[in-house]
Amino acid sequence: MAILTNAPRGTADVLPANSFKWRYVEKVVSQTAQNFGFKEIRTPTFEHTELFTRSVGDTTDVVQKEMYTFEDKGHRSITLRPEGTAGAVRAILQNGLLGGALPLKVFYLLSCFRYEKPQAGRLREFHQFGVEMFGTASPAADAEIILLASEILHSLGLREISLHINSIGCPECRAKYHAALKEYFGAHRENLCDTCLERLEKNPMRLLDCKNPDCKEIAKDAPVILDYLCEDCAKHFEGLKERLDLCGMPYEVDPRIVRGLDYYTRTVFEFITDTIGAQGTVCGGGRYDGLVKELGGAQTPALGFGMGLERLLMVMEQAGCDFEPEAKCDIYLANIGEQAALKAFSLTKELRHNGFFAECDTVGRSLKAQMKYADKIGAAYSMVLGDDEIAQGKGKLKNMENGEVQEIELDSLAQTLATIQAQAALGMLSDTVEQWNQ
Ligand code: ATP
Ligand code: MG
Repeated sequence: MAILTNAPRGTADVLPANSFKWRYVEKVVSQTAQNFGFKEIRTPTFEHTELFTRSVGDTTDVVQKEMYTFEDKGHRSITLRPEGTAGAVRAILQNGLLGGALPLKVFYLLSCFRYEKPQAGRLREFHQFGVEMFGTASPAADAEIILLASEILHSLGLREISLHINSIGCPECRAKYHAALKEYFGAHRENLCDTCLERLEKNPMRLLDCKNPDCKEIAKDAPVILDYLCEDCAKHFEGLKERLDLCGMPYEVDPRIVRGLDYYTRTVFEFITDTIGAQGTVCGGGRYDGLVKELGGAQTPALGFGMGLERLLMVMEQAGCDFEPEAKCDIYLANIGEQAALKAFSLTKELRHNGFFAECDTVGRSLKAQMKYADKIGAAYSMVLGDDEIAQGKGKLKNMENGEVQEIELDSLAQTLATIQAQAALGMLSDTVEQWNQ
């Protein structure tokens, strides 16, 4: 029976008491992305498995160990998306979006699936906010997405997250670097884990990303990619740093950052915090100039990042950040008796139709219990309807905060409530202006 009352390992519910935090974060990230000129794209939760093996890379942890892959009833190999970039590129190619205005800038909010060992900040279904930008090779674009990520973190009230950047070059400089890595790690062959031994020939850069402590120790003294960059890649990296400096964006050049996915070229970056333990990478991204072509499109420079929302929320909680509170109930209509219950019900419908957050009794409770409920949900105003109120067409509107009562016409309840709210807002505004002027 436990299976019926326990969600699968590595998944998490977002309960009503917490969902406002998610909505707030989702609002801030999408609003900020829109200010930077990005438009939302939504792609399917599952794709053909080959899309991920081709793009993420078949020597990566994600493809080798973490994908949720199954055969559907039509005998196709299907995979729940482990990340957002591949699907976005697929959708853009399929719909010919690269034929429109460039650069093309898209953002998305989606769930990703990876079969990992669940722990704090590491789930099997997690959520990402991501952006992708197509059709620009300029380092101005790299700087732009990094500044977007930074602006988001700043808007959410986060200050203690450091930016680490690196360049992993183009295939040309990578070839020389790979040779140097093979030579270096080849000399330490006997101390490498099996996975690293396997990857040494095919994709030696993956060894820098291995989590095994022995491999990590060896990787410490490995050759550094920045020493192998070709002139163009080095210039590109300088262009990025110049713009970050110009905007006063602090960063650390960190040659250990290679990213877990195969498609990256040139710029790679992470925003890292040490406040939530080992899973401290809140945002990771970079340039992937070869991916669009790899997936069947024309050669198109592109770049993007993914931001883990669970980790973002964890850091925000840790840092004591404020979340925009949820809207409170504007008015609760209580009733005494059958007639009044019907009147309260139809008036509530009318108020909601006029855009108010209104509630009435849907249980059949006593007046006392109804008022207790109104208190519990934090209603700003309440009104009790009984036979008298219905007969006179008037009721007493009570301000639940200060207890003030005013008599108003039931027929114009919505207009009166709107006026009262506008007056209160104006009052608050003039208080603020007065404070400024003092
Ligand atoms: P890590 O090194 O932590 O495994 P990654 O390199 O695999 O991260 P990306 O593929 O770049 O991560 O995904 C982008 C972001 O998504 C990460 O920076 C992180 O914030 C988040 N993320 C990745 N995997 C998970 C997961 N299993 N659970 C929760 N968040 C995750
Ligand atoms: Mg990972």
